[in-house]
Amino acid sequence: MEISRLKLSGFKSFVEPAELRIEPGLTGVVGPNGCGKSNLLEAIRWVMGENSPKSMRSGGMEDVIFAGTESRPARDFAEVVLQASDSEGEELEVTRRIERGAGSAYRVNGRDVRAKDVALTFADAATGAHSPALVSQGKIAQVIAAKPTERRQMLEEAAGIAGLHVRKKDAESK
Ligand code: ATP
Ligand code: MG
Repeated sequence: MEISRLKLSGFKSFVEPAELRIEPGLTGVVGPNGCGKSNLLEAIRWVMGENSPKSMRSGGMEDVIFAGTESRPARDFAEVVLQASDSEGEELEVTRRIERGAGSAYRVNGRDVRAKDVALTFADAATGAHSPALVSQGKIAQVIAAKPTERRQMLEEAAGIAGLHVRKKDAESK
């Protein structure tokens, strides 16, 4: 899967709608401390379905919504759109939106879907919010210190078979 575009609105420090084109190959993000580099990576993880506030450096999930500054009022929603193409070249557009008091809603190619569908879409493409391809600060140390079961999860995600677990859990709950 290749990410081609990222759109953010009201997400963390990206208060005004921002659009980034991501070219094929290696992308570097540079800028002074606190300018929002890590927030960008978190936006990618969030739209892929990340649900742990801790890994978003937040207390609660609504904390990803722009909280306001002295000169700017807070927003009441955050939205991230990720455009990508899969290995067959099919275009994919995933949107996640969170509103204060209303939780998250997802869309894939304009259609309302469940969080689970988004998780499956990315798991089948051997990527996702926990993909080893998204390396955040402190992640390397975490890999080294991981328990064998956690390390197996990382390997399974890299191998593209994580989707099988989602389906197994789903089948067992029926
Ligand atoms: P460093 O180089 O130090 O790693 P960085 O470029 O990765 O910095 P980020 O951590 O992405 O910077 O951005 C931090 C900024 O985002 C801080 O100024 C913080 O106040 C702001 N921020 C985070 N969440 C919100 C929010 N909900 N509302 C407003 N601003 C936020
Ligand atoms: Mg950072």
